[in-house]
Amino acid sequence: MSEPRTALDGRRDLEQAIAVLAERLPGPLIPLARVAYNYRWSWMEGAAAVFREIDPVQWQRSCGNPRLVIESAPPARLRQLSGKVEFVRRVERCAARLEADLGRPHTDDRLSPERPIAYFCSEFGIHSSLPLYGGGLGILAGDILKAASDLALPFAGVGLLYRYGYFRQRLDQAGWQHEYWTPTDIERLPAALVTGANGEPLTVRLEIRGRPVTIQAWRLDVGRVPLYLLDTDRADNDPRDRWISARLYVGDRETRLCQYAVLGIGGARMLREMRVEPVLVHLNEGHAALSGLERLRQHGSGREDDLARALDALRARTVFTTHTPVPAGNEAYTVEEMESVLSRFFDELGMPRTRLFDLGRVASEEDEPLNLTALALRLSGVANAVSRRHGQVARAMWAPLFPGLATDRVPITHVTNGVHGLTWMAAEMQALLDRHLGPRWRERVDDPAVWDGVEAIPAAELWAVRSELRKLLVERAREQSVRDRLARGESPDYVVAAANVFDPSVLTIGFARRVATYKRLYLLARRPEQGLLRLLADDRPPIQVIIAGKAHPQDNVAKETLRDAFQHKREALVARRVIFLEDYDMQIAPCLVAGVDLWLNLPRPPMEASGTSGMKVALNGGLNLSVLDGWWAEAFDGNNGWAIESIDADPYTQDDHDAGRLFALLENEVIPLFYDRDASGLPLGWIRRIKASMRSLIPRFSAERMLHEYLSTLYAPGLRAAPRV
Ligand SMILES: *Cc1c(COP(=O)(O)O)cnc(C)c1O
Repeated sequence: MSEPRTALDGRRDLEQAIAVLAERLPGPLIPLARVAYNYRWSWMEGAAAVFREIDPVQWQRSCGNPRLVIESAPPARLRQLSGKVEFVRRVERCAARLEADLGRPHTDDRLSPERPIAYFCSEFGIHSSLPLYGGGLGILAGDILKAASDLALPFAGVGLLYRYGYFRQRLDQAGWQHEYWTPTDIERLPAALVTGANGEPLTVRLEIRGRPVTIQAWRLDVGRVPLYLLDTDRADNDPRDRWISARLYVGDRETRLCQYAVLGIGGARMLREMRVEPVLVHLNEGHAALSGLERLRQHGSGREDDLARALDALRARTVFTTHTPVPAGNEAYTVEEMESVLSRFFDELGMPRTRLFDLGRVASEEDEPLNLTALALRLSGVANAVSRRHGQVARAMWAPLFPGLATDRVPITHVTNGVHGLTWMAAEMQALLDRHLGPRWRERVDDPAVWDGVEAIPAAELWAVRSELRKLLVERAREQSVRDRLARGESPDYVVAAANVFDPSVLTIGFARRVATYKRLYLLARRPEQGLLRLLADDRPPIQVIIAGKAHPQDNVAKETLRDAFQHKREALVARRVIFLEDYDMQIAPCLVAGVDLWLNLPRPPMEASGTSGMKVALNGGLNLSVLDGWWAEAFDGNNGWAIESIDADPYTQDDHDAGRLFALLENEVIPLFYDRDASGLPLGWIRRIKASMRSLIPRFSAERMLHEYLSTLYAPGLRAAPRV
């Protein structure tokens, strides 16, 4: 076989790794090695069950890492499985599905694996076994890679390999959050270090803080889409530089800037080293904005006379998405900070410094810091926010960058976020849809006509699935809260109480997000005697509440919110009917979004850019009760959930109003509807609402719809300019 032209993009390295893993497998199971080395398994019917069957305990412990499960399985166990005809047939079916998926032709002939759309993001939430995400931004990025794979669109993700990922959460008995970090053992994950022609790791260099830093890259495959993860943890780097890619969202600003340099500049250099030439670069949030400067440098166009033309050419191939109006998500660095990290790179750019720094300034004032979002907006030709409402907010926020333009003419459009259905819909719900929507619904998730079919699902069958998903969540919640309480060193009776919390037939309400102040977790505890405590009282129809979420390590206000919520834990009603699940992540989230009947979202408008958890809930037949902000402002139609219309007022009055509406809706509408049963025990009104929710929300808020919209609005201009290959 001749060497493929792009032998340096890590494909060969993954092939070698697959061959090594295959050596551990008895003949009939060899096809499993390839399945294990592609995260496509994580949204393939039946694949997780195959790996779990090898060793359920190890599967659980590794958060679902198929490579590790195979590597640690005793040879006798593998031999035994290879003798089971039915198991071998399932393995073959998975392998065939993967091969068929990878073998489909690309959908766009201006793109190819060597000329893809490169998608830069500081975090990627692909799967629970790969903790390289903090929250919504990363999970959205993971979902978009999966959708690109499903649509056979040549795409490549570029991110950072965090050896210690995002922090893990532990609360103490007083409810104060403590953080700890666990190592991500990339050597045991289905990933391969990209090597060059000489077999040594492929590297690029970048001078950061006055020292040369060597950067290497790992490749892992998400279906048809490669994800490249940059890594500075090499023996030849200074210990301080090895730390750059250690943790996601480290507290130290300077280290974060170094990360953004590695991601943006290092990422653009690495693609070039791998001979991957993106037709378009999509900057998902401002963290990777520096890649634009590196691409200018690569084209040798820092000279003043040439700069305007070079910038135009760059913009024509750059797309930018802004994800939040919250200041922490729109970081700015002073000239001194920038110079101390990147002065050598700025020298190499050859661009006059004022010209350079003005690209990141709103008002071109000399002492003004450089804002990464402003830089990304200036280096991209098209930009978007992530919901209709957020579009309005972002245009007003960034209007000063476009003097002379009326706010509604500011060139920031919107593409509302969506979620990857096959990742977030429980297997039980998928099986129900298989019976009623016909076999091909998976390929047409964004087609509203498919979802009209939901009307015809018999109420009893839909309710049986809902009840099953709730039961699974209750079991999981019990199990985990026993563990959480033991780990906190709580008293034995309080631990025992956890084993009995929750009832699988009770209306189950979920609230889980990052605990940022604007998300207003504290509304749940507002005026408890008139609010939540009253609704929890024994003489009322029962409800139970699951809360989860991490506060940013530096965000003491958010941590206080958590602690304050904890103050109520000893009240008997609360102990039995409210639990906090620690360490919210992709391990718990699927079960939580599938099992809850009602999802609460209470942001202070207009701070919610989009929000996606409620979309995941809708996929599973749960309902939303949310403030009209972010995605819900365009999704709510009066029948598909409930909405809180907030008021324009000072925060205190607004909180009071919104909490009042929340508890009134729960008391007067939500709870009665859930318990209004017919003779056979079915809540027919509730089920009607579920159907309205699934029909109206699933196709519109799918990752497929989102990616199609990116293609037709944001990517189209750049693609039009690209030659066909
Ligand atoms: C979906 C998800 C998020 C993002 O939730 P939002 O509603 O967009 O804030 C965060 N963390 C996990 C684990 C998720 O699954």
